Amino acid sequence: MHIPYATQSIDDSDLEAVRQVLTGGWLTQGPAVPRFEEDFARLHGVKHAVAVSNATAGLHLACLALRVGPQSLVWTTPNSFVASANCARYCGAQVDFVDIDPTTRNMSVAALRDKLAAAERSGRLPQVVVPVHFAGLACDLAQMRQLADRYGFAILADASHAVGAQYQGAPVGAEHADISVFSFHPVKIITTAEGGLVATQRDDLAHQLRLLRSHGITRDPAHMQTPPEGAWCYEQQLLGYNYRLTDLQAALGSSQLQRLDRLHQRRIALAARYPRLLEGLPLQLPAVLPDRVSAWHLFVVELEAGVRVDRATVFRRLRDAGIGVNVHYTPIHLQPYYRALGFAPGMFPHAEAYSRRALSLPLYPDLQDAQQEQVADTLRRALQP
Ligand SMILES: *Cc1c(COP(=O)(O)O)cnc(C)c1O
Repeated sequence: MHIPYATQSIDDSDLEAVRQVLTGGWLTQGPAVPRFEEDFARLHGVKHAVAVSNATAGLHLACLALRVGPQSLVWTTPNSFVASANCARYCGAQVDFVDIDPTTRNMSVAALRDKLAAAERSGRLPQVVVPVHFAGLACDLAQMRQLADRYGFAILADASHAVGAQYQGAPVGAEHADISVFSFHPVKIITTAEGGLVATQRDDLAHQLRLLRSHGITRDPAHMQTPPEGAWCYEQQLLGYNYRLTDLQAALGSSQLQRLDRLHQRRIALAARYPRLLEGLPLQLPAVLPDRVSAWHLFVVELEAGVRVDRATVFRRLRDAGIGVNVHYTPIHLQPYYRALGFAPGMFPHAEAYSRRALSLPLYPDLQDAQQEQVADTLRRALQP
């Protein structure tokens, strides 16, 4: 039987929630969307939650709300999905990267600090920095906040992996970042099929985000520039998009959120079992930090230097045995699109070394103990020369 690296968990209550929308009056953005936004905001301790069609759209809107444009410089981490960088390119901004910390695999605060000092000297400071809570482990947000306040950039956290994650006792999204963007793609922590959400504590950003999500249009008389003649009136105030979530998706999201704690606890339990099952193998395991609770989106192991089988062989052996391992990620700066912008191998050596050794093992709530043992046994054999 095939074991994927990640997959959604759908139960009868999810089916019932979607059925109720289909037999009700609204399909596109109706009452289920604000309900989902409220549910999410409550759970994550944020004032504003703006649901969007996917996290990529959310990152784009977040950049626009932060006024990223062709004159802007945006920094992110090379160890992420391409959307973390592309969002800035959509706005015409220049992108650069900050290397990772080899232990957490997140953007290195030390590297960020050095790069900021150099950028200040050359007068080219970033307007926005996009850290990514890789695999669900929060970045060093408090230290990044200090740097943000000192150098005047905004923090746009790509929290696609981090629904339910905690940092220093608070849910990710509640503190430190100006904006946090979550993804509900089926491989992530909870799903709405496609879907995403932009969270912020700032009223000004939330207002912009809501306008931008829906064509730049407002129907609220309090926000109109001309007093409306009647209830049919609306105003387009800026160039927005159709990045809305549907009621079908939002109902699924609310239903999934009700089980978030259970889903998260199962991920935590599986992540705690892996080190025991992989004991003695030449692998670097994910960091566990005392001040953070990971969402455990991914469980990534790195082949240590002494392993005499190359990663491609280990990968192929596992896939041939029906185990859906994956690699997260090829460094963004090594993608042809970014190479054409001037990036090259060797620029971010920690991210590059990590990527050559990384293997994401199956981790999702419905993964059974016996299946996890099968993954570990197969990996043990695959590491033999
Ligand atoms: C999944 C993911 C995205 C994009 O999410 P979508 O909802 O599929 O657009 C962005 N950044 C990271 C780090 C992701 O893992």
